[in-house]
Amino acid sequence: MPLYDFRCPEGTTFETAFPLSAVPDSTMCPECHQPARRQMSSPRLSIATSAEFKLIDSTKRSAHEPEVVSGRTGATKQGTRYTSNPLHRKLPRP
Ligand SMILES: [Zn+2]
Repeated sequence: MPLYDFRCPEGTTFETAFPLSAVPDSTMCPECHQPARRQMSSPRLSIATSAEFKLIDSTKRSAHEPEVVSGRTGATKQGTRYTSNPLHRKLPRP
């Protein structure tokens, strides 16, 4: 369900979710219990799929809660191989 912004006469703005088919023009303010009018805003609809949302959420979450790793991954004692061409093994190492 999309979220809609409402603003009461006291100036409090809040968001409430309603189905598209039953969006009221006003609803009760949770703080002062006066009728709050719906504000013009973009409904939170997106063309992103759930897989895209999962990627966005995991990317945002990794900024605050990075996953714990027990060791290095993808690296061997000889270092990470960047190429499979055997001729590149003869090139000088840094
Ligand atoms: Zn209010």
